[in-house]
Amino acid sequence: MSDCTCCAPRHLRRRGLLASLATGLACTALAGPLRALVAAPPRTTLTPDQAIAALLEGNRRFLSGAVPPAAPDPARRATLAAGQAPFAAILGCADSRAAPELLFNAGLGELFVVRNAGNIADNGAIGSLEFAIGSLGVPLIVVLGHQRCGAASAAVAMAQNELALPRHLRDMLLPILPSALAAIRAGGDTTDGAVRGNIARNIARLTDDSPSIQAAVAGGRVRVVGAYYELAEERVVLTA
Ligand SMILES: [Zn+2]
Repeated sequence: MSDCTCCAPRHLRRRGLLASLATGLACTALAGPLRALVAAPPRTTLTPDQAIAALLEGNRRFLSGAVPPAAPDPARRATLAAGQAPFAAILGCADSRAAPELLFNAGLGELFVVRNAGNIADNGAIGSLEFAIGSLGVPLIVVLGHQRCGAASAAVAMAQNELALPRHLRDMLLPILPSALAAIRAGGDTTDGAVRGNIARNIARLTDDSPSIQAAVAGGRVRVVGAYYELAEERVVLTA
């Protein structure tokens, strides 16, 4: 006998369908109608510190070789179709090696991710993050930079007048220039210095330029932290 509840007698169907939502046994043919009955997921109840711990635990799973979370079962898909309730927002670099969902071993609907080359808090990123904390109840914003960042390296080369770039790419990298110049003055690994400086500058910009983020942080409802992804070790460490 099939586990599919849509084949059950009529008087058993409703109870069976509800049970199937919990167990993931609902017939795929009913996915559309079922989704209309399912409530959106509740906002996360995690505190900012608990959200940080959940991310770092996810990175530990990634480090230990855990496989990425499987595609959601029908019940989870139905819930996600009704709404989203991520527990953290990530402002990360577009670098193909720094995908937050993989680094934090997170599944569909768990992270609200904004990415561009250089993890820059531009207007689009700030607006997206204002939406995440204001409309979705996200308690944590992570500005995630990474080792050997091409955007930071290009900004260093621009600062040294060694690189001509297409206009839009050049304009996009301009916000990294102050960090690049500071890294050049400091010496050492200039790309790494620019990455770390850029993380700090973008954390400051999120709170300085956005009254809503600033108010949420001041009220203790949201934290904005920096993190650095060590490519070689595959480890994410907090920077601030
Ligand atoms: Zn990068």
